Amino acid sequence: MNGEKVLVVGGGAGGLLVSNLLVGDGREVTLVTNNPEHYFQPANLFIAFKGESPESYKRSVESLLDPKVRLILDKLSKLDLGNRTALTERGKRLEYDYVIVAAGARMDYNSLPGMKENFEMFGDYYSSPEAAVKVWNTVSRMKNGKLIIGVPDLIIKCPPAPHKGVFLAAEFFKKEKRDVTVELLYPSPHIYTEAELAKTIESKMKSFSNIEYRTSFLIDSVDKDRKVVIGMNGEEIKYDALVLIPFHKGPEIDVNPAEARDDDGFIKVDKRKLNITSYDDAFAIGDCNNAPTSKTGVAAHLGAFVVWKRINGRNAEYSGRTNCPLITDDEAIFVISDYDHKPVGQRFSRLKRLMEDLFVAMYFPSLRYPRKFEPIFDVYFNATEPNILGEKGW
Ligand SMILES: Cc1cc2nc3c(=O)[nH]c(=O)nc-3n(C[C@H](O)[C@H](O)[C@H](O)COP(=O)(O)OP(=O)(O)OC[C@H]3O[C@@H](n4cnc5c(N)ncnc54)[C@H](O)[C@@H]3O)c2cc1C
Repeated sequence: MNGEKVLVVGGGAGGLLVSNLLVGDGREVTLVTNNPEHYFQPANLFIAFKGESPESYKRSVESLLDPKVRLILDKLSKLDLGNRTALTERGKRLEYDYVIVAAGARMDYNSLPGMKENFEMFGDYYSSPEAAVKVWNTVSRMKNGKLIIGVPDLIIKCPPAPHKGVFLAAEFFKKEKRDVTVELLYPSPHIYTEAELAKTIESKMKSFSNIEYRTSFLIDSVDKDRKVVIGMNGEEIKYDALVLIPFHKGPEIDVNPAEARDDDGFIKVDKRKLNITSYDDAFAIGDCNNAPTSKTGVAAHLGAFVVWKRINGRNAEYSGRTNCPLITDDEAIFVISDYDHKPVGQRFSRLKRLMEDLFVAMYFPSLRYPRKFEPIFDVYFNATEPNILGEKGW
């Protein structure tokens, strides 16, 4: 078979799916990943604000892979696109016919003064399940005062996740009858980047007496000794606990040519075909690429299917489709968009929240057996197309 040797980099959502799909065609697939475990990142919220155990949301990469995939547990350090070769940190040289980079986004704590120290003190629910446990250790002990969730930058995974954190934290404090206010510091003029959806979210936030928010708040720095967040306009806001969403950057891989990456290290791709600019044998899917859409698991999932089909000679394209449920304890809305449609305003509903629970239950098996789950996802994605969801308003 032509294009037999496939190298996949990164054993997260996108990398596992595309490896399992391509090996099923009889290709020789090698997956290089630097973490022997894969964890379901949205569950960091349940760990941080409900005290759930990280172990329930982790699986070994090996258990999620078709045994025919060759697994190398190592960091990929160099990728030479012109010569179709790659080098791991431990010195293994790999050759390929196709490469698919699915190495996710790297968290950066150094672009804002005080962020690193704050991360060490309070953790966050973006970096890892362990960092989310740190958040829970603080939240579960707070009896009164203010918990701030601060968003310094908008290029982040699952853009509504800061809001989810606010709702889940506020519900926890309300149920526990604790006198804690949760405040969201948000950089855009509305409480969500899209004005229509912002109205829905704002009215929900207003229904909570323990939620506050500030828009157009650009975080300049954090002073951990005085426990204040300082805005670019000099305004200071006091906190008792602070969770900052880290900056996101492209993965730590030395790619040749260097122009294949943008200034933040994200890999430049054709936004629909997902091939790395100027290469037709190299692709980047999920959080590590620079496609102008939200960094979501759905983008990684759909990207894996597009690349699988393209390598098999089909003319599949990625529509820019994303889907992040914005959940409270018992309700949700879907934040759904694609390159041609902005997220639509909708009602919060219990049915949408239930669909999130169903998705959580399906997550790991759907990575291991993507072909079996494809019809289910097709129905779901079709039913929640941005134009359909907007029109029917369900
Ligand atoms: C709190 C939170 C809530 C979220 N909620 C949602 C949601 O509701 N819906 C949604 O669709 N998405 C959501 N997301 C986003 C979603 O989890 C990510 O977009 C998705 O996991 C990205 O998948 P990926 O395969 O691109 O990267 P990842 O799953 O991050 O995988 C990247 C893998 O590459 C490995 N790696 C990195 N560098 C190297 C290297 N040099 N060599 C080898 N291996 C490497 C990493 O260890 C990792 O295993 C959420 C994220 C968070 C944090």
